[in-house]
Amino acid sequence: MSEQHSFQAETQQLLNILIHSLYTEKEIFLRELISNASDALNRLQFEMLTNDDVQDPQADLEIHIEFDEDAKTLTVSDTGIGMNRDEIIAGLGTIAKSGAKAFIEAMQAKPESAADIIGQFGVGFYSAFMVAEQVDVISRSFRPGDEAIKWSATGGTNYTLEAAEKDVRGTEVVIHLKDDEEEFTRGFRIKDIVRRHSDYVAFPIYVGDDEEPTNKQQALWRRSPSEVEDEEYDSFYKMLTMDFSGARHHVHVRADVPMQFYALLYIPGGAQQNMFSPRAEPGLKLYARKVLIEEYNRELLPEYLSFVQGVVDSEDLPLSVSRESIQATRVMASLKKTLTRRLLSELKRMAKNDRGKYLMIFEDFGAYLKQGLVVDTEDRSDLEPLLFFQTTQDDDPGLYHSLDEYVERMRENQDDIYYVVADDYSSGARSPHLDVFRQRGIEVLYFTHPVDAMLPMGMTDFKGHKLVSVDSAELDLEAVGEVDEAADEATEVLEADSFTALRERVQATLGARVSDVRESSTLVGSPARLVSEDGSGNRYMFRINRLLDKDYELPVKTLELNPRHPLMHNLSHMIAADGDAGLIDAVVEQVFETALLQDGIHPDPTSMADRLTLLMQAATGSASAELDFAEVKTAISEPAIAEAPAIELDDFDVEDVDFEPIDDEGENPSPA
Ligand code: ADP
Repeated sequence: MSEQHSFQAETQQLLNILIHSLYTEKEIFLRELISNASDALNRLQFEMLTNDDVQDPQADLEIHIEFDEDAKTLTVSDTGIGMNRDEIIAGLGTIAKSGAKAFIEAMQAKPESAADIIGQFGVGFYSAFMVAEQVDVISRSFRPGDEAIKWSATGGTNYTLEAAEKDVRGTEVVIHLKDDEEEFTRGFRIKDIVRRHSDYVAFPIYVGDDEEPTNKQQALWRRSPSEVEDEEYDSFYKMLTMDFSGARHHVHVRADVPMQFYALLYIPGGAQQNMFSPRAEPGLKLYARKVLIEEYNRELLPEYLSFVQGVVDSEDLPLSVSRESIQATRVMASLKKTLTRRLLSELKRMAKNDRGKYLMIFEDFGAYLKQGLVVDTEDRSDLEPLLFFQTTQDDDPGLYHSLDEYVERMRENQDDIYYVVADDYSSGARSPHLDVFRQRGIEVLYFTHPVDAMLPMGMTDFKGHKLVSVDSAELDLEAVGEVDEAADEATEVLEADSFTALRERVQATLGARVSDVRESSTLVGSPARLVSEDGSGNRYMFRINRLLDKDYELPVKTLELNPRHPLMHNLSHMIAADGDAGLIDAVVEQVFETALLQDGIHPDPTSMADRLTLLMQAATGSASAELDFAEVKTAISEPAIAEAPAIELDDFDVEDVDFEPIDDEGENPSPA
């Protein structure tokens, strides 16, 4: 008696894609079935650590592949954990697996590249339907009381279930091949596929009547690094992660004292690639004496190294305990410490001796390391040498400098390290704050990555040199470096009285949008800039909140005016002559908003367009009386600007940050 069940809608969708795909490397279905069998054996092995009451406790942990040319069938069987009725409905009727879900999402996003996408993903069991006209699964759970069950489907919207005869524990997947797929009933072809895709599977895979397993079953990480070829490291990485672009770097560790363990760790080739591949979750594969304890263990490395992939195999972890209690053991703590040290020293070595390669890693994962500096301050001294920045030292955005290099180049009497926060290199380079630094030949770091603005919160100083933002209100550079005389050839400075009148007028126009208006002693070529009294990183929190798509408010700052700038002279004359009030206000508004724009914090730059048009009309000859400046409202209303909210560093997780450039208006919630 068989009963009909229908597949979940998503499963039908997945089946439909696979059945109709023109993907040529259909052989990967075998990799997927073997991987399921191997998982089932791993789970059984783990179960048996604490439970003797299993079906066939003596059965060997093996995978068998049988084929029948006449019947055109291919059978993959294992002695793993098996499935009972409920488990087979849950496992093979619905899609719970992140890989298959991510696959469907990727297919929906880019249906035209179906063929490429299939190869990149672990599509799992259902990939069998690329070659099968019917698939039968006969399974018997490891629980002695459960009955065997047969599942059968032809790729339509339904599958059937019926009671089955199966004495031995485990699962048997019978593929009834489509007419043109008989290549999968040839022993040599099957063995070739097994060797190419499943050589590292830890359990023996027997093909046909062979007495010897086809796969090497080697735990690559247990071999001596001197004996492992680069291609082996590479293919193991691809098998582990399904990231077929390959890893950027690997670290292979074998240790005997004080602990015996093996670790093979990889730094992926790119952040993006990895996000969509099936091994999407962070964490290392943890084995204890060759038994897989956990697929994704997050306790072995600090959060800021969670981009690292790989395998850790310990001889010292207790086997007969739960996963939870393993986490709490001293062995885990010292493994974490050892692995972290090892990775950090490897990164430091690379940063020093192989900078080109290191910078590629830094480009992909630097945000993680920076997050580590902000949150995990105990590893600060190891993380600091891993930081690199573009600086004003050269006009080449392709060059990066370490903090040590910066310190070596510091000018006479310079104690602090200066940085400018900007959305990108070119807006940083145009910052009015840099006037005085250029004039005095002082180098400034560009903090252009979204996380950079947070760095000073965790790293207030480097080797005793404070990190100071170029827009700090209390900045005093009088004694630092030397002024380039030619650049100091200043225009006339506004008289004190005139400046006071100007200052008062600007203050009156801007109201609570600025905390103060004052004379600048540092500006050279720019008319104005905004400076901040708050020396802590708090004032950058709005940038982070903007990235996290949370509400944010612009911090209130002090506006500094350049008493040497021709624009300030013109304004001052207009005010003295009691000139057109509308035009004066419009210019003041625009000076303020330009300063916001130059700091990359204008909430709505396009709102300036109407005012700019009127100003151009005035500049090209329209009598300003004809122009209605009152109509041109500022987008920044007074109550919108408030003190920056306090920060909760613990809430900050670099994985939440969307590093897309934030120029899309929809992503920037207006502060109003
Ligand atoms: P997954 O990537 O989770 O393996 P699949 O679609 O390949 O996704 O399989 C779905 C589920 O079916 C598995 O998570 C597992 O619970 C179950 N399953 C598949 N093959 C086997 C097997 N050989 N033995 C036991 N359970 C299996």
